[in-house]
Amino acid sequence: MVNVFERTKTQTVKLLATSIKKKRVGILGGTFNPPHLGHLIIADQVADQLDLDEVLFMPDATPPHVDKKLAIDAKDRAKMVAASIHNNPRFHLELSEIMRGGVSYTYDTMLELRRRHPENDYFFIIGGDMVAYLPKWHRIAELQKIVKFVGVRREGYEIKSDFPVIWVDVPLIDVSSTLIRKKIRNHHSIHYLVTPGVEQYIKEHQLYLD
Ligand code: ATP
Repeated sequence: MVNVFERTKTQTVKLLATSIKKKRVGILGGTFNPPHLGHLIIADQVADQLDLDEVLFMPDATPPHVDKKLAIDAKDRAKMVAASIHNNPRFHLELSEIMRGGVSYTYDTMLELRRRHPENDYFFIIGGDMVAYLPKWHRIAELQKIVKFVGVRREGYEIKSDFPVIWVDVPLIDVSSTLIRKKIRNHHSIHYLVTPGVEQYIKEHQLYLD
């Protein structure tokens, strides 16, 4: 006869197994200085074509490749990302790199995300400008075992990589944060290049004027 304790234990295990659902999770890491429509379009296209359950928009803390004088406060960048994605239920803001601080190595971040949700499949989305640098990423061999890389084409960059990347076809969008910052400095319109919430945030906080 199965004792009551054993039966309860079995039921609990079954319950846990059904409540932990394996998800397909995309990650769009970046400086988002500021976030623009290019980010939203690539995230949406990849989510749709790879049937992802969600996409995490993950602003980095100290971007190693960006001149520190140009990168505005992480808090502002995170708020603008939140403003960009708030009306898409599949998009979420992921703050682990900002919370951890220091240089943001994707390997460290992915270990953290994996520890939180070992059941998920992770797809790290990168633009065609970054793919060529993948072999140089910190602990790339180990990182490759825990995420799949998804590449999207970027205007001005050829697709040239021996690295295993899943290529997703997205319309070429010739918008970058650099272009947005330049337009603001020159007092030109950024309307339709960023979401209305981001445009308003930039205006209110007088960002990128010098
Ligand atoms: P900056 O001009 O300051 O370098 P960015 O526009 O490249 O910024 P990031 O936040 O650095 O924006 O980009 C995050 C990720 O999104 C990177 O992998 C980048 O390659 C990709 N990405 C950004 N904009 C586009 C775009 N228009 N088309 C394709 N990929 C893009």
